[in-house]
Amino acid sequence: MKDRKFLDSVMEFEQQLELLQQQYNELKQFVAHMVEDHQTLQTENLHLRRRLEELLSQNGDESDKNSNDKPGRAIEIGEGYDNLARLYHEGFHVCHVHFGSLRKGEDCLFCLSFLNKQNG
Ligand SMILES: [Zn+2]
Repeated sequence: MKDRKFLDSVMEFEQQLELLQQQYNELKQFVAHMVEDHQTLQTENLHLRRRLEELLSQNGDESDKNSNDKPGRAIEIGEGYDNLARLYHEGFHVCHVHFGSLRKGEDCLFCLSFLNKQNG
């Protein structure tokens, strides 16, 4: 009788271990997902920061050259379009829906129609 009870508690313990193992695996997957997201966001952030610096430095050059006319409008429309088109081709969304996030290799209809409108 005593042995039977002992065997029961061993089996119960085993079940609890299995459940813990399962929860641990889920937790591990969750962390892996978070790390992936974090890396994606870091890459995006770095990219956007570089673009911003590029745009700001272009802006500076332009206003030096044309310091007499329209200082507030240094980036011309064509140039702005080129930058957006470049950003799109480098794999980022330029549409208002997902602006700045990675396209993950897929074309985006919002982006394409936005770029078409800007160009036309
Ligand atoms: Zn898009």
